[in-house]
Parts: sequence; structure tokens; C-alpha cells
Amino acid sequence: MSKYRGPVCKLCRREGEKLFLKGDRCMTSKCAFDRRSYPPGQHGKSAQFRRRRESDYSRQLRAKQKARRIYGILEKQFHRYYQVALGRRGLTGLNLLQILETRLDNVVYRLGYADSRAQARLLVTHGHFSVNDRRTDVPSMLVSENDVVSVRDGSRKRTYFKELPSMAEGKNIPAWLVRDLNNLSGSVLRLPERAEIDGNLNEQLIVEYYSR
Ligand code: SF4
Repeated sequence: MSKYRGPVCKLCRREGEKLFLKGDRCMTSKCAFDRRSYPPGQHGKSAQFRRRRESDYSRQLRAKQKARRIYGILEKQFHRYYQVALGRRGLTGLNLLQILETRLDNVVYRLGYADSRAQARLLVTHGHFSVNDRRTDVPSMLVSENDVVSVRDGSRKRTYFKELPSMAEGKNIPAWLVRDLNNLSGSVLRLPERAEIDGNLNEQLIVEYYSR
């Protein structure tokens, strides 16, 4: 599965807000957005002061790009998720967000076992996690209700995972997940509700974008 390999902080500057793509670093003075909160590129600084009326299309596009960037998904895969969401019963926008939230890399991140989704993705692709006791290295795998995600036995002796319980302890997890720090695992109680997903995302605009 391919992923974006360019400069990450540029994505925050392009969206005009912090997307928290780099874990702890985003909370420090090293955050590029805190230092240069204008769009990247030659005319980025002057564009900051230019008043332009945003079109509907532009707002829809930005909403879609923001969601894509937060979850680290390329266009083709994101469009595929939209089509799956469209085929499900219920609200397409909520279906889409639930699909994004139940990706394995996102669940590992939400459980507090990684600092960022990018790190979670790396840990999964290196085969450190299993789902229902079956090894997997596919970060895009979608987990379902009652699935158990755990660190594999062979990985537990690594320093990172030895220190993980103390690192993850202070991190809050959403109510749709249950975490077992002693066993370095977690399970999915149910699908997340809208209020439990990033309120900063506008799924309605994303649906409008793809419905054009
Ligand atoms: Fe965005 Fe984090 Fe980079 Fe700041 S440090 S610009 S929040 S990715």
C-alpha cells in the first residue's frame, strides 16, 4: 500500500491548521506551523493576507484533503472508501468516518500504542501486531466489533514495547475501544459514534465533493 512520502509539516501549513501528524513533536516549539503559519510555496506568505472568497468547490476540496491527510491516505484509496461508505446503510459521511477510524493503524494509534498514525502504520507494517491472534502487516485492514488487536509475543521483548505500558498509560482512549495495558492489547466494543470522531472534520463537505 503506497503512502505520501513528501514533507509532512507542509500539509498542515497548506490546510491552515495543525493536523498533529508528528505526534509529540507537534506539541513542542519545533512545530513548523507555529513558526510559519502561512501556506507553503513562493507566494504562500503573501497569500496569507490576500482576501479571496472561497468557492463551494474549494471548501469541499479542502475538507476532503484535510481528512485524507489526517488519516494518511492517498486519493485512490480514499475514493474507494467513499464508495464503500456509499454502499452501506445509513449516513454516507458517518459511514466514511467510521471506515477511516476502524483502519488498523488508526486503532493502534487510538489505543495509545503509537504517537501518531504514521508511527502506528510503521509498527503494523513491521508485523508487530496481530488481530484475533493472526499476524497482520496491513495498516489499512478494517477491524470490526469484538476484534482484538494485540502486540505479538515476538515483539514484546523489544525496548519500545517494554516501555509502552508506561508511555501509553496517560493517554486517553475513546469509549468504543477497550485497552488492556498488561497484555498490550485492545478490543473494539462497537463502531465509533460521530461525537467520538474528530469534530474538526466536515464529512458533509466530503460527500458533496464526491457527489458533484
Ligand atoms: Fe503539523 Fe505536527 Fe508538523 Fe506542527 S509539527 S506542522 S502540527 S505535523
